[in-house]
Amino acid sequence: MTETPSVRPANTGVRQTRPRTEGWTQKKDADGRPLLQFASPKRGKPPVHLADLTVAERVEKVKELGLPGFRAKQLATHYFTHYTSNPDDMTDLPAATRSDLVAGMLPPLLTEVRRLETDRGDTIKFLWRLHDGALVESVLMRYPGRITLCVSSQAGCGMNCPFCATGQAGLTRNMSAAEIVEQVVRANALIAAGGLGGKKADDHSMERVSNIVFMGMGEPLANYNRVMHAVRTMVAPQPEGLGMSARGITVSTVGLVPAIKKLADEDIPVTFALSLHAPDDQLRDELIPVNSKWKVDEALDAAYNYYEKTGRRVSIEYALIKDMNDHAWRADLLATKLNERGRGWVHVNPIPLNPTPESVWTSSDKDVTAEFVRRLNDAGIPTTLRDTRGKEIDGACGQLVATTEDEAAAEALM
Ligand code: SF4
Repeated sequence: MTETPSVRPANTGVRQTRPRTEGWTQKKDADGRPLLQFASPKRGKPPVHLADLTVAERVEKVKELGLPGFRAKQLATHYFTHYTSNPDDMTDLPAATRSDLVAGMLPPLLTEVRRLETDRGDTIKFLWRLHDGALVESVLMRYPGRITLCVSSQAGCGMNCPFCATGQAGLTRNMSAAEIVEQVVRANALIAAGGLGGKKADDHSMERVSNIVFMGMGEPLANYNRVMHAVRTMVAPQPEGLGMSARGITVSTVGLVPAIKKLADEDIPVTFALSLHAPDDQLRDELIPVNSKWKVDEALDAAYNYYEKTGRRVSIEYALIKDMNDHAWRADLLATKLNERGRGWVHVNPIPLNPTPESVWTSSDKDVTAEFVRRLNDAGIPTTLRDTRGKEIDGACGQLVATTEDEAAAEALM
């Protein structure tokens, strides 16, 4: 696909706010460009957990621990269907060896540091401490007919986006597959115990997380192998895994093109989301530093290839930022770029920011937002404003970062 010629009209009088960091300094590389970190710094690895292993490896490990291989399936049943790692709950395991078996196969991975709830209790943000003290978050949200968990895939992030709190400190380390899965298991345990609000009084159904979005801390495709192992474990039938539908799992990226191509060749039809936020390279180079490596057209080609290979409609995420990327001509340019690749392959989700007066990162005016959405819809691109639930507890994508209070709470636990 050739690059679309710039269609920016001579729109004199249109305000253009440029991206810049506020209150922190972006790390730069030797060429003066925002530093991108793809490799995870070397830190002590988290303990190996049942959810890091294939079914065959679980059997082997149980045998190494001196027990018959079938105990692996019993442990997996406790973990993936009863959401427990507590040996006291596992009365079908021999009492004498139970604790050692659980310690060897289900070591603790996440310590809960803090939990923030909305008033109705239907949105909960968890702050977790990992074995090495790194902090990550997940956000659990009840919607009509579904329960969604936004999970983290890395501690910190190496993509250095200037608007993002998570990226400020850089990448601490990749999370293991089991650390990713454990976020879901812990959320399911809380739901099973009645800890998520908003359930109707006459609803007695067994509930659990139905949808996962990889939109917490980290760039999931920069931690490709572990994220894919976690996804395989989520979709594996119980008791081998969590028995979830791949379609309910959304993997999002700021545009790591080779990894998007790889994802398209996997045999797992997850929902794919590209966080685009700008249709022109001039702005996107500043807004999403990885754009200096893979340009808008390359990222869109890779997204279209994902649709062609999987038949799954792709989502384009677009945070609307006042006077920065919310111009009518940008809606038109985005529509042109999407339509020239085909029809019916893509859906756009503009995301209204929280209003932050005095900041360059503030929300678009209502009429501007409506115009942006209208132009895309009129051009035949299905477009829906996304719910920004979670923002009120500082838990929406690109805003996940441990505060000093969180760190103090974590220290108190150590
Ligand atoms: S917006 Fe996403 S990719 Fe960019 S720094 Fe934040 S977490 Fe990383």
